[in-house]
Amino acid sequence: MAGKVTKEIKCSFCGKDKSETLVLIAGINGHICDQCIAQAQTIMNEELSDKLKNTLGSQLHLLIPKEIKNFLDGYVIGQDQAKKVLAVAVYNHYKRLTSRIKKTDEIELEKSNIIMVGETGTGKTLLAKTIAKMLNVPFCIADATVLTEAGYVGEDVESILTRLLQAADYDVHSAERGIVYIDEIDKIARKGDNASITRDVSGEGVQQGLLKLLEGSIVNVPPQGGRKHPEQKMIAINTQNILFICGGAFDGIERKVAKRLMTSAVGFKNHKDTEELDKNNMLQYISPQDLKSFGLIPELIGRLPIVTHLNPLDKETLRLILTEPKNALMKQYHRLFEMENVELKIEKDVLDFIVEKAMEFKLGARGLRSICEAIMLDAMYDTPSDKTQKELIITQEYAAQKLKKANINKLKVA
Ligand code: ADP
Repeated sequence: MAGKVTKEIKCSFCGKDKSETLVLIAGINGHICDQCIAQAQTIMNEELSDKLKNTLGSQLHLLIPKEIKNFLDGYVIGQDQAKKVLAVAVYNHYKRLTSRIKKTDEIELEKSNIIMVGETGTGKTLLAKTIAKMLNVPFCIADATVLTEAGYVGEDVESILTRLLQAADYDVHSAERGIVYIDEIDKIARKGDNASITRDVSGEGVQQGLLKLLEGSIVNVPPQGGRKHPEQKMIAINTQNILFICGGAFDGIERKVAKRLMTSAVGFKNHKDTEELDKNNMLQYISPQDLKSFGLIPELIGRLPIVTHLNPLDKETLRLILTEPKNALMKQYHRLFEMENVELKIEKDVLDFIVEKAMEFKLGARGLRSICEAIMLDAMYDTPSDKTQKELIITQEYAAQKLKKANINKLKVA
């Protein structure tokens, strides 16, 4: 009897006998063999990728630059100019992508990779991250300082794409329309104009390496990253539609901006222009030429055609950062205590106090978090064990006392 049953087991899709297959999986009313599964997988990938392209096309109707900026406003305070520039660049980037898909346009729209210049902690990463969130595309952050020229100790530039691939759950199609944020791009600037005998493996070499990613080409990516798995099969990724956003503090670049503006103004004997310059914020006049003087190679600058700047954060902005963004720190603390059934009341002067301290310690927006944590630590430790507590009032006195106890002075930047 048993022999007869085995004989009748066939793949319900291709009809192959069990003996001709490697794996035959049983369903309720039939079976499927390994080869049919593989074929079905290929069909599914193709179908899904078409669907993905279509969704991307329809998404764009919803996302005009003003809407993109509005979305950013929900998470990032101030930085209006950067938001506008990003909104337009992102809109054009994805418009370019659909025009490619539709194949209707003969004019080749160029890729609009972006470079953002601004002090650390002013919201560069946050802007890039928020855009990726809005578009619902894979996003990764790469640190330019760990990259070295191929063959040297450090990470190869391809490792950036490994990270994007991981963010996309190894879905190549999805990774190919993702966003990569490359932080600290200023740290790979050429060290001075003199050609050196020693190789500049972490500077110009890396810039050269980045070119092929930025310009849009097929790059072979080690799916597990690094050089630890030499046996791994490379995955080919087309970077043509990946949007690269680079950011850096470019310490001291204001002087280069000022120098350029002064010399050009003097050259044209036009002192009026220089008088109108806002000397407190020279970054707003940044141009690709200044990036070149700073040590980025012209080929790299050429592939980052959109340059924008972020303003330093003043007291008012820091104050707003505490309360206004959708996931503002204060909203988070309120939620945390709400979950313990405790109403948190933070007096207004506490917020001013936190901002004062962040300014005093020169910690910028990043410091707001550590200061708040220091103030709230004891309360967050004690509250869960006190079931009778109904509210918690934070006064400036309380905040100052906790901050003193936490020895936050250690964080102070000289
Ligand atoms: P950068 O990349 O410029 O060094 P980040 O974007 O990483 O700075 O900012 C650090 C943190 O500071 C963010 O996670 C965010 O909480 C806060 N932050 C900085 N700038 C802003 C801003 N303009 N609006 C809201 N939050 C900000």
